[in-house]
Amino acid sequence: AVVVRQRMKSCGKWARAMALVKEFEEKCATPEAKLKQVADAMTVEMHAGLASEGGSKLKMLITFVDHLPTGDEDGVFYALDLGGTNFRVLQLQLGGRGGVVNQKFTEVSIPPALMRGTSDELFDYIAEKLANFAAEEEQMFHQPPGKQRELGFTFSFPVMQTSINSGTLIRWTKGFAIHDAVGQDVVAELTKALKRRGVEMRVAALVNDTIGTLAGGRYTNKDVYLGVILGTGTNAAYVERAQAIPKWHGSLPKSGEMVINMEWGNFRSSHLPITEYDHALDVGSVNPGEQIFEKLTSGMYLGEVLRRVLLRMAAEASFFGVEVPPKLKVPFVLSTPDMSAMHQDTSSDLREVDNKLKTVLEISNTSLKTRRVVVELCNIVATRGARLAAAGILGILKKMGRDTPQEGDGKTAIAVDGGLYEHYTEYRKCLENTLGQLLGDKTASSIVFEHSRDGSGIGAALLAASNSL
Ligand code: BGC
Ligand code: MG
Repeated sequence: AVVVRQRMKSCGKWARAMALVKEFEEKCATPEAKLKQVADAMTVEMHAGLASEGGSKLKMLITFVDHLPTGDEDGVFYALDLGGTNFRVLQLQLGGRGGVVNQKFTEVSIPPALMRGTSDELFDYIAEKLANFAAEEEQMFHQPPGKQRELGFTFSFPVMQTSINSGTLIRWTKGFAIHDAVGQDVVAELTKALKRRGVEMRVAALVNDTIGTLAGGRYTNKDVYLGVILGTGTNAAYVERAQAIPKWHGSLPKSGEMVINMEWGNFRSSHLPITEYDHALDVGSVNPGEQIFEKLTSGMYLGEVLRRVLLRMAAEASFFGVEVPPKLKVPFVLSTPDMSAMHQDTSSDLREVDNKLKTVLEISNTSLKTRRVVVELCNIVATRGARLAAAGILGILKKMGRDTPQEGDGKTAIAVDGGLYEHYTEYRKCLENTLGQLLGDKTASSIVFEHSRDGSGIGAALLAASNSL
């Protein structure tokens, strides 16, 4: 009788766990009709953000980039790419029509303490690394010391630009919280730090990573009109008609165009499928109420959403045994790369899932049945994110009038970069397939995704070239 009762009890637990999965799945659902509503809401917010400053959650920032690379750029230029967990320094030698003749880069990770410190600490650290890079280069290429260098600064946070090479930080995202930098001109901050270090570099262009990606993509493919980042954070930029920007009071650029940094990570809409887990994640984040779209779609958060679901299942349905595994209570222990590895485990006994549960969460002896559920949850979280990103892109294509077949077989290429897109294959496939379904075969065939690897740094150097003294 005791055995039977125990079995019934564990059956009840399992049923409870499955009910939680089912409920989560339903709340995350993104049927086509819903995605179209999200896309339409995105288009509406784009109009509102372009109409007036503060007119929308979408900042629709004017970038002062009114011409994109042509392929004629010539000379040696530098880029500094700061935006996620790493920053990189890049030297690019451009040979006019000959393209990129040579490139060289170093990548340094940002010590987490610097992400929460002071502005001077961060920029001094960056200046130091730049100084090392420049010194090495002088030795290698026998460059005269003290030579003026032109730098493109990719700074992947929302910035209110005041010119192509100045702009103030609106706020931090992606876990950065350096309070005294908010409201400061980030180019001035960098320039001061470079001076303190005696590095001769002039910031010729300040660009968001989406703009860099768009510019880098355009350099090799004239059909590129959009730049999208799906990495730690997410965002999109596109080429707008200057006349379609009511809030722009400057003179009309010769090209008639202006690149817009949407800051779509901050998009929100009542159509977004938000669950109690997302809500709790947001409330506990360093930026509650902000970057809601980003928290549903980007690499910094997917693993964390999954952790929160697993934690509840452990607590309320003994999903991993009677005790709640202590590791599971630690915010952000479960990274999106770990989630991706579990999701894409093709072994019949889900060995990789077992391995991640053991090494990351210190959970052992799971049954195959349990591991299957974990994979299902990965799929729910990733699918929702990828499909929402596809809806966002559809919204932009609509705004641009490129959601229908173009005259004369014209193509629209989307330059995409970011670790999530690059490494999480299931996510990428889902994103691309979903956009295809939303557009229908005829239009889908005119849309091209281009992985623009490190495009943002290259693009920044290219924009430094076209804006150099
Ligand atoms: C930032 C954007 C950036 C994106 C991708 C977001 O959190 O607000 O400026 O482009 O991340 O790096
Ligand atoms: Mg980046």
